[in-house]
Amino acid sequence: MTLSADPLAALTGQEHAVSRLNAIAHDPPQSIVIEGGDADSRVALALYWAMRLNCASGDIPCGQCPACKQIADFAFNDLLFFDGREGLIKVQPIRDLRGTWGQPPHGDGFRVTIFSEAQMFMTEAANALLKSLEEPRPGNVFVLCAPQRERLLETLVSRSWVVTLAWPDIRRNAPEIEEWTSALVNFWHSGRGWFDRTSTKGAVNKDIAMQVVLGMQRELREAMSGACSTPVSSKLAQTCNPAKLRRIGLILDKAQEALNTQVPVNPAMVLDWVATRLP
Ligand SMILES: [Zn+2]
Repeated sequence: MTLSADPLAALTGQEHAVSRLNAIAHDPPQSIVIEGGDADSRVALALYWAMRLNCASGDIPCGQCPACKQIADFAFNDLLFFDGREGLIKVQPIRDLRGTWGQPPHGDGFRVTIFSEAQMFMTEAANALLKSLEEPRPGNVFVLCAPQRERLLETLVSRSWVVTLAWPDIRRNAPEIEEWTSALVNFWHSGRGWFDRTSTKGAVNKDIAMQVVLGMQRELREAMSGACSTPVSSKLAQTCNPAKLRRIGLILDKAQEALNTQVPVNPAMVLDWVATRLP
């Protein structure tokens, strides 16, 4: 696995988040959530945290001691790394580690378990982790990285200390999400062109459904603020009065809640529910 050889350098411009972590390093919370930034800067901050808790200097990571160097290379004994960028995080590896998490770390610092892109947890895996977090795990800390905390199980977030990297300046959704939000608004307008999208086999998983819901919320904010900087938000503003926009907001909140519940839901059905909920 290769990353920036120097996670410290990758955090330029993120001094605020770094100093928030430094402030809690003397008594680290069992679990933290890192949101904002991009996937690489979230991993860099997670590695910084692992260094901060294990550096031989016992202070701001030196980047030079064996612990710092091994963490930067993902080769540290007390570092466990799950990479959601490579696919779904499944339940079995989480279960397999429960014994390890029950043990103190090998070294003098903390065992740090990092989940990069933790929105890729399968529901069962997230529940298994939750169980582990409910027990005391002396010397063990957990890091959940995700674009936004809303994409994680609410019960995981509520057990975690959240640190937010500077948000990337994105007012517009990624093109593949914009295809969905645009289809949704067109469906509300014309009653056509929606169900063939959600019924295509494999087109909708939980993560995509969540991105569509969050993407739609972004469009709605643009429409309600009157900024309307995107085609979808300006169409929303043109075709819906303020009461209807508020109603859309409530529907999206409910859909987000449904996708975040621990009970497995069919994500395509949640999107269809959003589409058909508006009279
Ligand atoms: Zn060091």
